[in-house]
Amino acid sequence: MTAPRIATLLAAGQPGSSVIVRGWVRTRRGSKRVNFLAVNDGSCLESLQVVAAENLPNFDEVQRITTGCSVEIQGLLAASEGQGQRVEVQASRVTVLGWAEGDAYPLQKKGHTLEFLRQIAHLRPRTNTFGAVFRVRNVLGDAVHRFFQDRGFLWAHTPIITASDCEGAGQMFHVTTGAGPDAFFGRPVSLTVSGQLEGELLATALGAIYTFGPTFRAENSNTPRHLAEFWMVEPEVAFLDLAGDMDLAESFLRAIISAVLDRCGADLAFLQERFEPTLIPTLEHIVASEFVRLSYTEAIALLEASGEAFEFPPRWGADIQTEHERWLTERHIRRPVIVHGYPREIKAFYMRQSDDGRTVAAMDVLFPRIGEIIGGSQREERLDRLRSRIREMGMSEDALSWYLDTRRFGTVPHAGFGLGFERAVQFVTGMSNIRDVIPFPRTPGNADF
Ligand code: ATP
Ligand code: MN
Repeated sequence: MTAPRIATLLAAGQPGSSVIVRGWVRTRRGSKRVNFLAVNDGSCLESLQVVAAENLPNFDEVQRITTGCSVEIQGLLAASEGQGQRVEVQASRVTVLGWAEGDAYPLQKKGHTLEFLRQIAHLRPRTNTFGAVFRVRNVLGDAVHRFFQDRGFLWAHTPIITASDCEGAGQMFHVTTGAGPDAFFGRPVSLTVSGQLEGELLATALGAIYTFGPTFRAENSNTPRHLAEFWMVEPEVAFLDLAGDMDLAESFLRAIISAVLDRCGADLAFLQERFEPTLIPTLEHIVASEFVRLSYTEAIALLEASGEAFEFPPRWGADIQTEHERWLTERHIRRPVIVHGYPREIKAFYMRQSDDGRTVAAMDVLFPRIGEIIGGSQREERLDRLRSRIREMGMSEDALSWYLDTRRFGTVPHAGFGLGFERAVQFVTGMSNIRDVIPFPRTPGNADF
């Protein structure tokens, strides 16, 4: 029999009904006559209070229950007189499914640091913090699918092992059986840094697709916003231009943040209290406010005029750094900013060349706290322009002949973007380190668990 989850019992359980509850004990307190167990099953932040009295045949066993033990409780749901909770369980049977070795259990006390919890990432999902983060992550992922499915986008699965490098999106991990880099596939292959190029092949046949899967970058950047393995959401849409791409990105971000506000109230309130005092108002503000569109040239002018002592002085032609992104979104404009029209020299070969000869139809969505959350562009659909750019950049036309075929045969304007899923989870949870929003982070020097 499947026992109802505790979230369901707390929200809708009828006093007087008999129930079975399974979960892990967070705390036990009480006297020689009656014990109170706080049981959590991961379905929600709150634990369910179980009242275990001395008339239980194994009451001596109950008194030896420690934090972390797994239990199955049979009993009667009763209106709770205690603080806060609507219902509690009066136990008629308590079965200890697994003991937890008393003091050896590492999660006894509250208030472990996030750094310590990272070292025990195999157990940290049992804490309030990581339960909340992973529940919010789930809702955000579900909202991604709902957004695109409701609009007729097809979820597409692009390869993880690839011979293309999406032209420098990031440093790659090479895949080998150990018998030499070419032995298995007859050519060197790597873990994908982006599904975009393959996504374009599908979008120029199916109209609108999105990928949602893992990507890998061997960037040796130990920052709070980079992982070696992270999840990306990459929509790609035929017959879409840059303006449409920016609109899509904005409505997408608003929709997934709204879903979290609607469905994760208790977890957000907890995360706000613990980590980010302005979390909920910030999310509400983002959902309510229009994102500001700013050309790259305007953005550089604002940065130059800011009078700030940036580590990297802003300069037309150079990339916009994280410190610049944060100044724009947190200090100057105080809401999300979409910067578009970047210099062609700092962007990938496939971005559509503008008539000015210096810029391409690229856009980045910048968020407060996070900086770049989305990078996207309208793609160059004109075969001659694309070819000349490939040649200029010293790349091989041959290796990309399959990609160029989309432009040879029935080419259409199209556009898309990539959302770093963990950066979005960071934003909605208020967690400041990206290692704390994915269950088992991979970073330079770390591949435990
Ligand atoms: P950044 O400049 O922040 O390293 P990028 O320009 O390399 O990002 P893109 O190639 O445009 O990023 O990738 C699309 C999105 O993927 C980014 O907007 C970001 O949200 C996310 N992203 C990129 N690299 C990482 C990483 N190493 N870990 C987590 N998310 C990432
Ligand atoms: Mn990068």
